[in-house]
Amino acid sequence: MDPKRLFDFLAASPSCYHAVQALSDRLTQEGYTQLHEADAWTLTAGGKYFVTRNGSSLLAFRVPAGAPAGFLMAAAHTDSPTFKIKHNPEKKAGPYVQLSTEKYGGMLMGTWFDRPLSVAGRVVTAKDGKLETKLVDVDRDLLVIPSVAIHMNRTANDGMKYLANIDTLPLLGGKDSGGILPIVAKAADVAENDILGCDLFLYCRGEGTLLGENEEYILSPKLDDLECACGCLEGFLAAKESGNIAVCCIFDNEEVGSSTKQGAGSTFLRDTLRRIALCLGKDEQKLQMMLARSFLVSADNAHAQHPNHGEYADPDNCPYMNEGVVIKFNANQRYATDGRSCAVFRAVCENAGVPTQVMSNRSDLPGGSTLGSISDTLVPVSTVDIGLPQLAMHSSWETAGVQDYEFLIRAMTEYFGSAL
Ligand code: ZN
Repeated sequence: MDPKRLFDFLAASPSCYHAVQALSDRLTQEGYTQLHEADAWTLTAGGKYFVTRNGSSLLAFRVPAGAPAGFLMAAAHTDSPTFKIKHNPEKKAGPYVQLSTEKYGGMLMGTWFDRPLSVAGRVVTAKDGKLETKLVDVDRDLLVIPSVAIHMNRTANDGMKYLANIDTLPLLGGKDSGGILPIVAKAADVAENDILGCDLFLYCRGEGTLLGENEEYILSPKLDDLECACGCLEGFLAAKESGNIAVCCIFDNEEVGSSTKQGAGSTFLRDTLRRIALCLGKDEQKLQMMLARSFLVSADNAHAQHPNHGEYADPDNCPYMNEGVVIKFNANQRYATDGRSCAVFRAVCENAGVPTQVMSNRSDLPGGSTLGSISDTLVPVSTVDIGLPQLAMHSSWETAGVQDYEFLIRAMTEYFGSAL
């Protein structure tokens, strides 16, 4: 399978705001109507809708023709570890001009060196007394974070400690530099003086590529978790009517703990489900009954067994690339999967002809956490944590399996079309 749509989505998503814009464009093309939280909603049976919050999280949903039994939901995230540019960013080092940045999320810092970088995000302008938000992508090779040469640091290959206030400041230019704001203003097509606020992030230039002996691997920035975001949406769009309300949730801020107004730890999903139920004439008791019959697939990429470093995984509970969708387990509930939700999802995958694998961290390594357990505290539904196996998670370029992406689409198509 040619994952062209995934590559297009990755290329269109240099920031979380661009990812939501790309998802919104796709949903609009597919006949979905955008709703706004600030407006009154009128929903109809058979209607298809989406709503965004902060321009960086999105919920798409579809109302069945008949009375809905519950909510069939899937969740992924839009954000990736990167560097955020500070508001007064320019720093001088002799004639050089560098940018002050701070870390967003827990990246592998060494992977950001010596490659072309650019800047994307959003600017907020004031025009005629009105605030306007515009997405911006400088969209050219602009910055580099240079390594220190081996001749000057002979121990560089013995392990590096990176300081975010020194080592990872990108180089913008020399003595003729006019600073970053004029470049951003030009790219956004706004007057520099009109910019009152901005959220600007670095991103790696270059498009994702297929590699491996049989082109069986994808190498790209942001596979965690745009791969799951794209695959979940594809399945959501392709699924047949299930008699449930299908909900595709794409949250921001997973990489910084989800506790923001638009993250999986926010009221965004709970508010939206409640609003859907009320608009369809259901009362609180009916909503509780619907939630009790609902299910969430929390989809965030998983660590594939590393070819050079198998010692970091539990050898009996670790996934491999191109061997199937991963079901994640953790006794301390960093992953929300339990025996029942595992069985539900496995049955879905069996019906779709999709292989599954399991992942538990090595018992003396804590591992990561993700959306499912966080979302469940506000929207308590049976949840399975899944993901696609990948290498080099939180590197600026990550590797995943082509076949697994197709498996995810097939699994999600079956899931969103199932009666559970
Ligand atoms: Zn993730």
